Amino acid sequence: MPDDAPRPPHRSCGMVEAHEMLLAQHPELRQVREDLEARTRSLLSLTPDFRASGGVITIPVVVHVVYKTDAQKIGMDQVTSQIDALNRDYASKNTDKSKVPSVWTKLVTDTGVQFVLASKDAKGQSTTGVTYTQTTVDAFGTDNKVKASGTGGADAWPRDSYLNLWVCNMNQNPLGYAQFPGGPAATDGVVIDLTCFGTKGTAVSPFNLGRTAVHEVGHWLNLIHIWGDTNDCSGSDQVDDTPTAKDPNYGKPTFPHVTCNNGPNGDMFVNYMDYVDDDTMVMFTAGQVARMHAALDGPRSAIGTGGSSSSSSSGSSGGSSGSSSSVSSASSQSSTSSHSSASSGPGGSSSSQSSSSSSDPSSSDSSSSNSSSSDSSSSDSSSSDSSSSDSSSSDSSSSDSSSSDSSSSDSGSSDSSSSDSSSSDPGSSDSSSSDPGSSDSSSSDSSSSDPGSSDSSSSDSGSSDPGGGSRRKDRRSRRRRTIGKKR
Ligand SMILES: [Zn+2]
Repeated sequence: MPDDAPRPPHRSCGMVEAHEMLLAQHPELRQVREDLEARTRSLLSLTPDFRASGGVITIPVVVHVVYKTDAQKIGMDQVTSQIDALNRDYASKNTDKSKVPSVWTKLVTDTGVQFVLASKDAKGQSTTGVTYTQTTVDAFGTDNKVKASGTGGADAWPRDSYLNLWVCNMNQNPLGYAQFPGGPAATDGVVIDLTCFGTKGTAVSPFNLGRTAVHEVGHWLNLIHIWGDTNDCSGSDQVDDTPTAKDPNYGKPTFPHVTCNNGPNGDMFVNYMDYVDDDTMVMFTAGQVARMHAALDGPRSAIGTGGSSSSSSSGSSGGSSGSSSSVSSASSQSSTSSHSSASSGPGGSSSSQSSSSSSDPSSSDSSSSNSSSSDSSSSDSSSSDSSSSDSSSSDSSSSDSSSSDSSSSDSGSSDSSSSDSSSSDPGSSDSSSSDPGSSDSSSSDSSSSDPGSSDSSSSDSGSSDPGGGSRRKDRRSRRRRTIGKKR
């Protein structure tokens, strides 16, 4: 497969194409995005030098491996290598950040975000955080077909609880794509070509350091390409500390590359949001990190556990470990049983938060108990309340519009009857338990199916990790404190 395919001369990302397609299908998203942008500006204006200092936010990840041939069925070690790469780079622990020209070294910033393979699906069943789905599709494009069982892919798990990462054959055209915050739940997440996923197995140079996912997850957290997606210097990534740039840089440029009167330093081509090779993109800036946290305090406020103090996050903060992990709840789960199909196994704990989050859009509001009420797209509040509390308001509002459809669309996915041999397998070593007795009959067949189901809330409540909700609240309040601090 991948190796005999013609290699593209350089990176390309399907983000813009996918986004335009989405806007065509959902015109209302344009307003949602504009509102979110206004809200982000408002939040950032209060904290001009906001940085991740309120503890690490850990995001549970589910990796959907959609394969046609055995060679495309990547192993658990490759999946883990991708999680490791994300954690390395999002913590700014990549040693190759030494490549950053000295003029920008002070801008190199730890995002304060980490990732862990999910240890429980939306029904509270143990999972490796990886699903396998065999497909008849030769290669997927940016049309989201890989995200639905009905079109040869695997259904998304609830996006308020999981970052969905799909890995499939895209023939490197493009290398991957993501969905910005605010879009439909059923297609929320990131898609990566299997030749660019992780650091081993099917990953091939020059895209074998796991940075296609680093880049795409940046989009998922609302980052824009640093040249602003125009080719005439008029575009902006809405971040102040990245220089204006004319268009993408490819390969391995030499410093400086001056465009748009941005001399003497030129384009910040060492940034993860440019188009250079994996070994050349090595940093996020403080401004980008602030923008990511505005998304995590806003439309993505439901996902993740926060704070280094919280038990779960500590489990993952180790970076890699994604799988196995440490986390206490993981062990308890494994003993219980695992879902017979597909996944199984250990993982981070995190899943808990799905309890409130998924399915129930209002839940996210409740935590913040913000007045703004239902105003889906909202925006409004943002401008007015420029006072302080707005971080909370931003959460509620924007998230609902999106999450509301999430519940609906999610539920739909559960029936993914398709059964396409999906599950059954593999990667998951410890599928050991697989006790059929496990309640969640519904899912049975297709691996992915089950999680998407809306009932997650109920089932979760019973599950082991009651602290989820409160932790999330902790994160909010902690972040608010951080924001208020104005460093
Ligand atoms: Zn991109």
